[in-house]
Amino acid sequence: MGKHHPNPNLVKIHRCYSCEDLAKLYGIHVNTVRGWREEGLSPIDDCKPVLFQGATVAGFLRQRRASGKRPCLPGQIYCLPCRAPKNPAHRMADYVAITDTRGNLQGICPDCERLINRSVGRGGIEPIRGNLEITVRAASLRNDRVRRPPREL
Ligand SMILES: [Zn+2]
Repeated sequence: MGKHHPNPNLVKIHRCYSCEDLAKLYGIHVNTVRGWREEGLSPIDDCKPVLFQGATVAGFLRQRRASGKRPCLPGQIYCLPCRAPKNPAHRMADYVAITDTRGNLQGICPDCERLINRSVGRGGIEPIRGNLEITVRAASLRNDRVRRPPREL
C-alpha cells in the first residue's frame, strides 16, 4: 500500500525536489518518479535537472491517492490501465483458483479490452459477485496441460 500511495505530507511544500530526491524520500525507483511526470506532475520549469515544487508534488499525490481510493462495487474489477473500477465486458468473469482458498476474478475491461483481475478469497466471491456471471475454473487444469510430457512417437 505504502509504495502505491506515497504520503503527500512527506514533502515540504516550500522545497524543490529533483526526481532523485523524491525517489529517495519515498524509497521508490527514480523511474517511478519520472512516471509521475507523465501522469501529470509538472516540474517548475523546463530546465535540467528537472525540479518539482514540494507543494505541486503534495497536490499531485493527494489527487492521485484520492483517485486510487475509488473502491470496486460488487460486480466490478479494477482496471489498472484505465485506473477505474469497471464492469467486466458482457458481465462475465472467471474465478481462477490459485490456492484452495484464494483466487483471481478475471474479466475483460469493456473500455481497453485488457484482462482485469481482482484478488478474492473463495468464500469471498458472493459478496462481490454483483450481477456477474462467474465461471469457476481450476487453475490446475492449465498447469497439468503445461506439465504433461511430450507424447512419444
Ligand atoms: Zn481498462
